[in-house]
Amino acid sequence: MDLKNMGNRSTDSGPHKRPIIIYYLIGLLIVILINSLLVPSIRERSIVDTDYTTFLEKIAQGKVSKAQVDKSDDVIYYEVVEGGKQIICKTGRMDDPDLVNRLYAAGVRQASVIPAKESPWIALIIGYVLPIAAMVLLGNWLSKRMMKSMGGGPGGMMSFGKSNAKVYVKSSTGIKFSDVAGEDEAKDLLTEIVDYLHNPDKYREIGASMPKGALLVGPPGTGKTLLAKAVAGEAEVPFFSISGSEFVEMFVGMGAAKVRDLFKQANEKAPCIVFIDEIDTIGKKRDGAMPGGNDEREQTLNQLLTEMDGFDGSKGVVILAATNRPDSLDPALLRPGRFDRRIPVELPDLLGREEILKVHAKKIKVADNVRFDEIAKAASGASGAELANIVNEAALRAVRDGRRFATQADFEESIEVVIAGYQKKNRVLSSKEKLIVSYHEIGHALVAAKQTESAPVHKITIIPRTSGALGYTMQVDEQEHFLMTKEELENKIATFTGGRAAEELIFHSITTGAANDIEQATKLARAMISRYGMSDEFGMVAMETVSNQYLGGDASLTCSFETQTLLDKKVVNLISRQYDKAYKILEENIEKLHELAKYLYDNETITGEEFMAILNRPKLEAAASYGA
Ligand code: ADP
Ligand code: ZN
Repeated sequence: MDLKNMGNRSTDSGPHKRPIIIYYLIGLLIVILINSLLVPSIRERSIVDTDYTTFLEKIAQGKVSKAQVDKSDDVIYYEVVEGGKQIICKTGRMDDPDLVNRLYAAGVRQASVIPAKESPWIALIIGYVLPIAAMVLLGNWLSKRMMKSMGGGPGGMMSFGKSNAKVYVKSSTGIKFSDVAGEDEAKDLLTEIVDYLHNPDKYREIGASMPKGALLVGPPGTGKTLLAKAVAGEAEVPFFSISGSEFVEMFVGMGAAKVRDLFKQANEKAPCIVFIDEIDTIGKKRDGAMPGGNDEREQTLNQLLTEMDGFDGSKGVVILAATNRPDSLDPALLRPGRFDRRIPVELPDLLGREEILKVHAKKIKVADNVRFDEIAKAASGASGAELANIVNEAALRAVRDGRRFATQADFEESIEVVIAGYQKKNRVLSSKEKLIVSYHEIGHALVAAKQTESAPVHKITIIPRTSGALGYTMQVDEQEHFLMTKEELENKIATFTGGRAAEELIFHSITTGAANDIEQATKLARAMISRYGMSDEFGMVAMETVSNQYLGGDASLTCSFETQTLLDKKVVNLISRQYDKAYKILEENIEKLHELAKYLYDNETITGEEFMAILNRPKLEAAASYGA
């Protein structure tokens, strides 16, 4: 139990956060007060010691209403009514045989005047034990409720004051930079912090002050937490971690108290790393949108700012925070002396993906001939967390199929699992549906293949996925793309429309299967015109700004209403031009379309090589093998 700091914590953190022990002490004090002051004083006041003569006088005056002779104690208790008040008196008993008559004559009732004396044990129990027990129970219940609301673990009632601190996970992580694959830029930037934690004197001598905080910015699953842990591991310092959402409490003031507590502990353990995940939950911009709405968050944020300004950077406490929406952070957080360093943690590129796969593959048994470069290529766009997941899925698949090593096929299937959802073997398409899906998918692939500047087809399948896709065509770029030309983008749109075009060309009707294609094509076309300046009319005028690049890019229009209307028209034009192009390509290659669709229908899956082989073989040969 840590009581050291109780006093100052209770002063400004509101009543509900005062350590419970204070309650107990106050409670005990009250009980003692009642017992020692109040009760005896009643007794003293109520029983007045008088002499026998007074007793007789009072009887004579008719002021005595009740009397009780206590033979064992040789005392008489009597009740006097004077001025409307009842006073209980007592007097020593005299040998007075006439007493009873006198009392009778005066109309005094013989009745018990004072209640039977309670045993000292009962007095003790009623006076002390019961109230204390009640208080302990109440306190216990309260503290349990608080614990629950804080998501805290065990600890019992006595750790109540300390329980705030229990939330932080402190550990010496043992994770090194070598456990983080790729992300060289981020590692470079963080190395300086590690160096500083190793020998702060070097920096102090020259007068350089380290940044107190650095902000790791990047999409989810890119290894921000991992990097923060690695900094602690490399510097061999403790690692405190808390998520921003844990600060936001149901009780106002609780979050602020947690921040105080966190920094207090960090200061005690300095040098150390404090990692605040999802800092945007507390550090959101303070806007006027909700007047008086979020006091709690604001208080927490203010406390964080105060603590960051207050603590002595030279002690070696470095605060790392992670967010995937840096634009929504309160600018106050980003001011010098706070999180003034921004470390981008991006999705891994091709090489990065390969390295991440290899790091995680070390933990499982992998067949010798597995080509990680191929897997990395196919897992384009996957985050570090997804790649870790792919490796794990591959291992699980190997176990399921009774193999002792994960094979290339295991990895390839797990990419699909992670990216497109599990194969849904029990979902049966009717043969008509299957045929439509076959033509649809081949439509995409054929349009892609017949255009220059478009990524080759890697695999096509019509096995339904748990994600709801009935089939999909996977294209894999030869190399990583950083720039895309207008032609490439247009071709991409044409490829998206290829599925629907094939349906219309062959079946003269259209289905709902193209919903996702339509969405993607629209997004791309819109971006081309409004953001990439790829239209003749608008040129290099931005009509949209992306407000949140990490959350799918909510775009907001920055143009007039008329321009918006025009923009919409342009988008429609662009897509329908590409649709026509795709339709024409399919029309020109209708034989191959039939041939490939039939193959896919029969085999359900077709690899890129098979696809190209069928596409490139002369018509005669094709006619021979698929003559019917
Ligand atoms: P974030 O905090 O950015 O959301 P995490 O650090 O929690 O992401 O990453 C989740 C998991 O993904 C890690 O535990 C790790 O297994 C894996 N991972 C992510 N990025 C990398 C990387 N660059 N190298 C190795 N593993 C990674
Ligand atoms: Zn499609």
